[in-house]
Amino acid sequence: MVWGHQDYDNAEYLLRDADTAMYRAKASGKAQYRWFEPAMHNRALHLFQLESDLRKAVKRHEFKVYYQPIVSLRHRQIVGFEALVRWWHPSRGFITPENFIPFAEETGLILEIGEQVLWQACEHLAQWQQAGLVSTDFTMSVNLSPRQLLQPNILNQVHQIVETTGILPQSLRLELTESAIIENRTFVDDVLRSFRQRGIQLSIDDFGTGYSSLSYLHILPANCLKVDRSFVQSINASEESLGIVPLIVNIAHTMNMQVIAEGIETELQLKQLKSLNCEYGQGFLFYQPIAAEDALQVLQRQAVMVAQSG
Ligand code: C2E
Ligand code: MG
Ligand code: MG
Repeated sequence: MVWGHQDYDNAEYLLRDADTAMYRAKASGKAQYRWFEPAMHNRALHLFQLESDLRKAVKRHEFKVYYQPIVSLRHRQIVGFEALVRWWHPSRGFITPENFIPFAEETGLILEIGEQVLWQACEHLAQWQQAGLVSTDFTMSVNLSPRQLLQPNILNQVHQIVETTGILPQSLRLELTESAIIENRTFVDDVLRSFRQRGIQLSIDDFGTGYSSLSYLHILPANCLKVDRSFVQSINASEESLGIVPLIVNIAHTMNMQVIAEGIETELQLKQLKSLNCEYGQGFLFYQPIAAEDALQVLQRQAVMVAQSG
């Protein structure tokens, strides 16, 4: 039996592959068609395996949250952490978020993964607050995916985690992307306002890469803008390399928001950002994301230094 470019001696395989091609066509939009290619089958198998592994990972709590320090650019003092998830796969080892978060988002598994991340990050912060290692304005930033933001019980979930762990609500800062906010405005507006009423802070992540309108930004109850890494990494000694960064810093300050520059890797980038009055940043120049045990040590060292200088 020959169908398209393939040979088949089994009708079941023919139907399976036709199905795979149909899903691929559907994923490309309406009124599309796709010829089946063997690579599609391999991809389908890979995704099937990934989904089954991710489901097990959720049950077995295989996610570990790493913490990247956010520093004040002037004193290089740590003022907060960003919680960044990693997956410890039993056979494949350490897996970075870009290799599973988009798929988790697609399958809805992000809801459970995101909840585990929130618990871990808030539990660690509670320990550090109780140990007196961080001040009351120290923040823990947690990324919230579009799907998490749209789940009906998100407010209760976050509220319960804050209450149970006993952290100060103002020390939790949720990071949202522009597209997550804009895609479902009326619902999201209410949710964001309720977060703010409970004292929780909000940050707009990867700012400048989405399609926010200035008029909308104006009414958003966010406290903080994060300048996307792509803008920071093109900064060098020239004035032109600053691109739209001065504009973003000005917009944030005009709206009484903090600005955090992401992905600072060189002293020159740091110097340029300071000259633009950008107050905060994170990047490999200061710290990589680190495990909770290492984050604790970093905080202890900082506490000793502060005590000595005071
Ligand atoms: P993001 O929220 O914009 O996080 C910043 C990313 O930039 C992190 O990558 C961090 O390791 C990386 N980074 C920080 N400084 C530097 C630097 O100086 N140079 C370079 N090259 N990279 C730097 P990571 O941890 O791989 O996370 C990637 C993205 O995955 C995050 O981008 C976020 O969108 C997503 N993500 C991570 N954890 C979570 C999570 O718990 N939930 C959700 N929904 N998304 C997450
Ligand atoms: Mg982020
Ligand atoms: Mg970002």
